[in-house]
Amino acid sequence: EKWVYLFDEGRGDMKDLLGGKGANLAEMTRIGLPVPPGFIVTTRACNAFQAEGNQFPEGLWEQELAALRTLEKRMGRTLGDPGNALLVSCRSGAKFSMPGMMDTLLNIGLNDEVAEGLVAETGDARFVYDAYRRLVQMFGTVVLGLPHEPFEHVLEEYRRQRGIQNDAALPAEDLKAITQAFQRIVREKSGRDFPKEPLEQLRLATEAVFRSWNGKRAVDYRNAAGIAHDLGTAVNIVTMVFGNRGEDSGTGVVTTRNVSTGEREMEGDYLANAQGEDVVSGTRPTLRIAALKEQHPKLHAQLERICQKLERHFRDVQDVEFTIERGKLWMLQTRDAKRTAQAAVRIAVELVRERRITRKEAVLRVKPEQVDFFLHPRFSSAEVKAARERGDLLATGLNVSPGAASGVVALDADTAERWSKEEKKAVIMVRPETKPDDVHGMLAARGILTSRGGRTSHAALVARQFGKPAVVGVSEMEVDCEKRQLTVAGRVLREGDTVSIDGTTGEVFAGRLETVIPDLSDPHLLELLKWADEFRELGVYANADYPRDAKLARELGAEGIGLCRTEHMFFETERLPRVQQMILARTDEERAETLAWLLPFQREDFLGLFRAMDGLPVTIRLIDPPLHEFLPNHDELLHDVTELETRLELLKDKPEAAGLEARLVQKRRLLEAVESMRETNPMLGLRGVRLGIHLPALVRMQVRAIFEAACQCTREGVRVFPKVMIPLIAHSNELRVEKELLEAEARDVMKEQGLEVAYQFGTMIEIPRAALTADQIAQEAEFFSFGTNDLTQTTYGISRDDAETGFLSEYLQKRILPENPFATLDQRGVGALMEMGVKLGRKTRPKLDVGICGEHGGDPKTIAFCHRIGLDYVSCSPYRVPIARLAAAHAAL
Ligand code: PEP
Ligand code: MG
Repeated sequence: EKWVYLFDEGRGDMKDLLGGKGANLAEMTRIGLPVPPGFIVTTRACNAFQAEGNQFPEGLWEQELAALRTLEKRMGRTLGDPGNALLVSCRSGAKFSMPGMMDTLLNIGLNDEVAEGLVAETGDARFVYDAYRRLVQMFGTVVLGLPHEPFEHVLEEYRRQRGIQNDAALPAEDLKAITQAFQRIVREKSGRDFPKEPLEQLRLATEAVFRSWNGKRAVDYRNAAGIAHDLGTAVNIVTMVFGNRGEDSGTGVVTTRNVSTGEREMEGDYLANAQGEDVVSGTRPTLRIAALKEQHPKLHAQLERICQKLERHFRDVQDVEFTIERGKLWMLQTRDAKRTAQAAVRIAVELVRERRITRKEAVLRVKPEQVDFFLHPRFSSAEVKAARERGDLLATGLNVSPGAASGVVALDADTAERWSKEEKKAVIMVRPETKPDDVHGMLAARGILTSRGGRTSHAALVARQFGKPAVVGVSEMEVDCEKRQLTVAGRVLREGDTVSIDGTTGEVFAGRLETVIPDLSDPHLLELLKWADEFRELGVYANADYPRDAKLARELGAEGIGLCRTEHMFFETERLPRVQQMILARTDEERAETLAWLLPFQREDFLGLFRAMDGLPVTIRLIDPPLHEFLPNHDELLHDVTELETRLELLKDKPEAAGLEARLVQKRRLLEAVESMRETNPMLGLRGVRLGIHLPALVRMQVRAIFEAACQCTREGVRVFPKVMIPLIAHSNELRVEKELLEAEARDVMKEQGLEVAYQFGTMIEIPRAALTADQIAQEAEFFSFGTNDLTQTTYGISRDDAETGFLSEYLQKRILPENPFATLDQRGVGALMEMGVKLGRKTRPKLDVGICGEHGGDPKTIAFCHRIGLDYVSCSPYRVPIARLAAAHAAL
């Protein structure tokens, strides 16, 4: 098998085999960009290595050696030749980028003789021993797994002795001594010597990169990012070029456009006289790329040209690493840039305008979940103003990942994770800088705040990718992880104190600030969603109970209301006592009286909805929940009654007794009623259509309200299309009886009003039997809407009310279920019932209109499924409407 590819043997479309980094290095080589020569060990080699118990597969080492010989020939240098040494790096690179999660070794090929040879050749001992000490250090930490601290302590000690801040200022003799000290650390801590033989270094480095694929941080990252564990990583062996060879050298990371805002300008960081890791680790303050323009305008212009070429070639914004070695520019990496949701949308739209990609591609380039970030919380301007006036604005750092968050300060990843998971606290993780082993804490935190680092720092990259608000590089903030506190703006905050960060502006506040959801008027987003609408076939409706929700939903693009849960209207404070009275009524007259009182309120509700949705269908579901939900809690009532009884006992003959007596009678009556309505399984009890059959006067009132409102609107010139929806049908007879009753009421109203309005009667499919007998049900129903909340509950036999915090979460942890079926539709089980329901229903009524209104209706995966099984629309909460529009387009493309 071919395990090794030279750069000029590969292509950009070989990412499965060569990894993302390798394939793109090959592609850049192919299109004539300046890439240092190198070769790639395939991902298949990595998998074979793991499969053979961490052994190189047959032929791999020989192929590496052969490729190395070719490199040496091309470069006219030889690995390990003191007179003419070649140095190489060994870098991981999986199919999907996993920033900093796997290992890299630089400067392979150095030993004492080679170092001396290089000093003679370059005349730059400082440079050579800096490279050498880095190799030994990386060898110790990466290959042998030693901790960083002993190495850092040595460096710190030398800096202290010289009274300097920066390693770059250490003289050659110190670096040489440090190299020796590092070799001693390796020997003492690991029991083995740093390998002098360059080929052994190369072999061990390759193995270390292979092994790092299964390192804890890489596994954690893949779990969080949803990357498969069996892909393996490729290993890139690349000729070293050095950015630390003086002021005409340097290194940087740029994106071809601004990946926070999407603006069309090259953006990034640059460091003169430095190596790549100095930029990424954020340990030295970087300069904006504009600094390169001042220092080396020609190189800057060349870089810009290359960036444009790359963007054209890859047809997307690129994230590029480069090094300048003594005035010569080298490209070390390119990949599609990670970006914020705002930037993703703007870039996609602008690339269409620049005729680089089609509308279809633009729509496909934005993930539905990214639209969610436009709904990210922000601090309200009033809150910000007040906080400023209080003097709570502590600092402003780099705004690297948008959104706002408040939470308690946690100073390390484990604390952040523990507080968030176990104590359910909102946490802001605060660090001097973040490292790949901090990712679990960052994922658990609401937001991330660091005192060091730039836009391309680890903290910024990870935060952007996971949509966490982040502010980095707050240099005036001092984070003291020993004393567990931070000092900023003359104030000391202890771990556990509350801070608020705004990743959109970069501001950091003391205390908690209220957040608001912003509007969705971003013009690029509106444009993109308009294109999505052109492609999608599913309708997108909203679940909305009140006119204000309906209005919002419509603004966000909803084409109708798929579910109005009418019971919500009964819970309003002034109405609830009457609703209770209605439920407890002892006679029909008493019930009729309270219903007559409720009717105008209910009519007003529907008037508001119809007006807001002028011209669009409004699906109104008749009352659904068990009645006890409207009544006081049984145990509380029992407590009240007992307490009243005891007090009465004490006050027996006192004048206050009379009042207490009356209250007791009332409470007892309530308690009796509640007890008489108690059910062991209320969710399987008297609710939905069963309630309508049991209390016909109640649902007749609702239908009357709907049609009176519809007639009134029609008179006002509002176009109404009510769809009356009957819930929880299990048997077609239920629907037949109910529909007869209610349609008669509807006709009565229209007759009284002297008007006809178009309407439909339909049902929810939320019990398996309804799906199984959908052909019979469609005899009565003019439309179906899948209530997948109840359908999941009844199909799985898992309570939707409390399982998610109980055993279901255990199931998910133990991976007995791959996903929470209440969040993402169980396509295999619940989905099979839906598919059957659609087929059977349309057998009876070919044009049957079918939708979904359970919570799943706003979930992109479920939306794709709904598209496949031929639903007419999905209905979801107003804020998910834009997400659903995009997801529906993706499903259709
Ligand atoms: C459902 O069951 O999916 C549904 C939409 O109704 P509810 O959530 O009100 O029971
Ligand atoms: Mg339901």
